[in-house]
Amino acid sequence: MSVLTLEGLTRIHGAGAAEVHALRGISLTVGPGELVAVMGPSGSGKSTLLTLAGGLDEPTAGTVRVEGVDLAGLDGTQRARLRRTSIGYVFQDFNLIPALTAAENVALPRELDGVRRRAARTAALQALAEVGIEHLADRFPDDMSGGQQQRVAIARALVGERRLMLADEPTGALDSESGEEILRLLRSRCDGGAAGVMVTHEARHAAWADRVVFLRDGVVVDESGNASVEGLLGPRHVQ
Ligand code: ADP
Ligand code: MG
Repeated sequence: MSVLTLEGLTRIHGAGAAEVHALRGISLTVGPGELVAVMGPSGSGKSTLLTLAGGLDEPTAGTVRVEGVDLAGLDGTQRARLRRTSIGYVFQDFNLIPALTAAENVALPRELDGVRRRAARTAALQALAEVGIEHLADRFPDDMSGGQQQRVAIARALVGERRLMLADEPTGALDSESGEEILRLLRSRCDGGAAGVMVTHEARHAAWADRVVFLRDGVVVDESGNASVEGLLGPRHVQ
């Protein structure tokens, strides 16, 4: 079964003269083990696609299914629960809670799910270690660099057994070496059975994906399989 299924996804913002068609009938299926890159010019609908897939926004038409569950059939509480348990979301602007330390930010979704505080902290420290900043566990976001905050945001998305990873330009605030490391993490999560969708501007980052979907004005204008991605961008796992 696919992890993420988008069918005929349309999102219109505003109304009347101010109407913006952010997405116009997008369909996309991502299975276990697959990492899909979404590319396209600014304003083409990439972030809208991701927020709909993550249940953070609702489509004007079309359906979103995560592990077979139609998000439209869930009430707010059920949707929030599905988000915490199944979906790891890395936002473009991190969305960390400033009053919580790095470890507390990462532990929060687990605690909300009823995991005991100690176990949640252990899981958080493990996720922080995965992104290489375990030593910053007790620091507050405002006392960290942009790159460090991004790693916390990624650790928060990795914590637990989430099956769907959604990342909106996850390497934006990172130098190229740290960026590669984050992509390697996303890739290994997918190799471990998760499904991933990441928005990226950079072709060499898209080369980590199995497929690349190109958006323009809210429609898919091209979809490349792994073979043609490699042809376009060079070998995938550059060591
Ligand atoms: P991208 O991430 O590819 O830059 P977005 O998905 O953010 O594109 O935006 C797609 C289009 O939808 C743009 O024209 C943008 O201005 C518009 N848009 C996005 N969010 C909103 C919103 N909340 N209200 C009105 N228009 C929006
Ligand atoms: Mg965007």
